[in-house]
Amino acid sequence: MTTTATATRRHVYLFGPSRTDGKADMKALLGGKGANLAEMAALGLPVPPGCTITTEVCALYNANGGKIPDDVRADVLAALDEIGRDVGAKFGDAETPLLVSVRSGARASMPGMMDTILNLGLNDRTVEGLAARSNNARFAYDSYRRFIQMYADVVLGVDHSVFEEILENHKNLNGFSLDTDLSAGDWKGVIAEYKKAIEAEIDKPFPQDTSEQLWGAVSAVFGSWQNARAITYRRLHDIPDDWGTAVNIQAMVFGNMGPTSATGVAFTRNPSTGAKQLYGEFLVNAQGEDVVAGIRTPQPLTEAARKEAGETAPSLETLMPETFGELTRIFDLLERHYRDMQDIEFTVQEGKLWMLQTRAGKRTTAAAFRIAVELAEEGILSREEALMRIEPGALDQLLHPTIDPDAEKRIIATGLPASPGAAAGEIVFDSDEAEALKAQGRSIILVRIETSPEDIHGMHAAAGIVTARGGMTSHAAVVARGMGRPCVCGASALKIDMAAGTLMANGRTFRKGDLITIDGTAGEIIVGAVPMRQPELSGDFATIMSWADGVRRLGVRANADTPRDAEAALSFGAEGIGLCRTEHMFFEEDRILAMREMICATDEAGRRKALAKILPMQRADFKQLFEIMGERPVTIRLLDPPLHEFLPHEDREITAVAQALGISPATLKARVTELHEFNPMLGFRGCRLAIRYPEITEMQARAIFEAAVAASKRTGKSVTPEVMIPLVAYRTEYDLLARVIRETARAVEAESGTKLSYLIGTMIELPRAALKAAEIATGEDGAEFFSFGTNDLTQTCIGLSRDDAAPILASYEEKAIFEVDPFVSIDRDGVGELVAIGTERGRKVNPDLKIGICGEHGGDPRSVAFCHETGLDYVSCSPFRVPVARLAAAQAAISSNAAVRDKD
Ligand code: PEP
Ligand code: MG
Repeated sequence: MTTTATATRRHVYLFGPSRTDGKADMKALLGGKGANLAEMAALGLPVPPGCTITTEVCALYNANGGKIPDDVRADVLAALDEIGRDVGAKFGDAETPLLVSVRSGARASMPGMMDTILNLGLNDRTVEGLAARSNNARFAYDSYRRFIQMYADVVLGVDHSVFEEILENHKNLNGFSLDTDLSAGDWKGVIAEYKKAIEAEIDKPFPQDTSEQLWGAVSAVFGSWQNARAITYRRLHDIPDDWGTAVNIQAMVFGNMGPTSATGVAFTRNPSTGAKQLYGEFLVNAQGEDVVAGIRTPQPLTEAARKEAGETAPSLETLMPETFGELTRIFDLLERHYRDMQDIEFTVQEGKLWMLQTRAGKRTTAAAFRIAVELAEEGILSREEALMRIEPGALDQLLHPTIDPDAEKRIIATGLPASPGAAAGEIVFDSDEAEALKAQGRSIILVRIETSPEDIHGMHAAAGIVTARGGMTSHAAVVARGMGRPCVCGASALKIDMAAGTLMANGRTFRKGDLITIDGTAGEIIVGAVPMRQPELSGDFATIMSWADGVRRLGVRANADTPRDAEAALSFGAEGIGLCRTEHMFFEEDRILAMREMICATDEAGRRKALAKILPMQRADFKQLFEIMGERPVTIRLLDPPLHEFLPHEDREITAVAQALGISPATLKARVTELHEFNPMLGFRGCRLAIRYPEITEMQARAIFEAAVAASKRTGKSVTPEVMIPLVAYRTEYDLLARVIRETARAVEAESGTKLSYLIGTMIELPRAALKAAEIATGEDGAEFFSFGTNDLTQTCIGLSRDDAAPILASYEEKAIFEVDPFVSIDRDGVGELVAIGTERGRKVNPDLKIGICGEHGGDPRSVAFCHETGLDYVSCSPFRVPVARLAAAQAAISSNAAVRDKD
């Protein structure tokens, strides 16, 4: 049966010196690689001709049960004819064979995630044609064996270890150490053994028909969209499953044609630091895969890098000065054209330079800051564009700890500083095990000879990664940088015995489970867990943050419960405290007793006695917070203890509380049983506690106001506390407690002879509160501010317990019911609508109502964008996320300004 694709759509796009159909902005259709090859060809750069089969065909292929539509086949063959004409060769021809590479290329870059086949078109006859034409039999047979190896692995499913073993045997028998020691005759022998091994494995000879090879390879690339590692990569990077991959078929150019040929990869700026220096590696007489696979150690491109690394092998700059000059000109052109740092692959075939790929280079967050600032300063980007270039979520990477410079360290081995930051953990050699141990809450350092895309889940689970082989552009290095995991790679002094589960270095043996620390900035591997320091932020970070502050509309506050949190929040640029959870001030041993005493007291007198102990503690805490924050707003939330977190359970705790209350342990136990709740998160929490026992609010309000008086006396600054009532659903609840707060304020004013300035407001964290926002904010005595508690609002809107959600979330995410965890990123459609309703109804009755958010969503970039669009005044998040929120708020403002401009 024949199958055809839709007749109206074009499925194959050519690129090359004589004709180019696509361009850079066609990534959705041509994939990133295909679109950029077309763009480079259109710019007149030396790109080997080729064609791209669109991503739409991938969807058709997978929907058709793995069939390539006939009209697509015909278009590809016609394209191959044109490509052949360009290079003076013909696909399948015995004398002048056209060889091609077949590579995947999705819309988003997915390095190493899908399959690639090189040298396709070789068989027992065409290899001879290639040998004769190139006058280089060694090269022709080397290419043929590479093709057989790759094709068998990717298309026929023969494990590559089969070929490695044959090659190793051949080398050992003949006393060779390098692949380049093998002659044409050697390769012929190896090829014969490869073919035998394949036939033994698959019961069929290796395909000699070049068309069969071609469709096999194209199918494998389309099929690789569905392989396990590609699926994992998509899940980790939020790439939709329906995007599909394009297939690029391109005339081969050869870096393995002898000493004037080479292959290399380069970044136009240093991807670790962002410094404006050409950065990359190359191998003489090799094909592209050799560099990335980390089998041979590549040489640096520039003399400066060679000297710095103390390398003896020459740089490209000295070895091939003309090519190097041309490359640097092209790099500059590409960077200006794409207005971003580029990651480039090139090949030199007998002195002639060819460009094989360009794309925006992956970089560390520190490098992203530096590159964005410098591109803006060089006039290549505007400041707003520079801000949009940094992914706020990646900021976490900048906040990685570093090794305390004063700490004593015993270095086991050194390697390449592949990805910055320090991490400590147990040695684990296996990726599955790393994932399993991480799930138990253990910190892991994944140690491998080299990593491959199969290790992606282990790398993700690990706190840090070490490899014994591979350079700065090896798989481990590239992936670790992208994930923000510290990584040391190419630590060749490490002797890793995977089977025995040991690591030998420096005369010592380490076993699985032993603790080590790695410093990905210095490239060091160190014994034990070394003390670390928190990062300090300055330079380019400060520049970007100040640009962000210049454009954002949303305020950014921090959730801070202690003076230490408040200081951290200020150092990260918080403009106030949006949530101080007062119950968190009682987690410490000496304080929790007083709190338990208060909760378990059986009458008002007992409670007041306990509250009298708590008052000075709270007053001292608040005073410190006010002193640190100066005139910045500080929102203090009245007590909201889920009771189960505070009730005494163990005998030791029960005895202590009973003693303090002057009751018997048995009586206390009975009281604890009485207070037990089936659903504590929906129980005697928040304002409900104070509605029943208003003396709690009275004490807290007194502590807040007395602290405000004392702090402003001490600092000379005016303090305006914002007193926030939690878990309100009814206006009456709000009124009852607001009245207690006002009465207490009047008492403190009278006692201190000071006029207080303060606001009273409420959390909006129950659907009823969002719906009744107008009622709650109406009139002189209505709430003066709202703060959306989206943790509880998510829990109560979806009806999904915050504490029991984990296993449900996992299956809901897997079944695509939740795109993301709604406790991490706000559920715009449901919870978001409640926030929008609350905001609109509240503002209708009080246009000056100050509105913020203080759930965990306040530090999530997507939720910050939502808050901007919904017109909130500020977000409040944990101190370390404050820079993330500042940048996300700026990006939200820039995006919505652009949307407004587009509409006009
Ligand atoms: C909330 O519910 O979003 C909130 C900030 O309060 P908590 O997490 O303390 O319940
Ligand atoms: Mg809450």
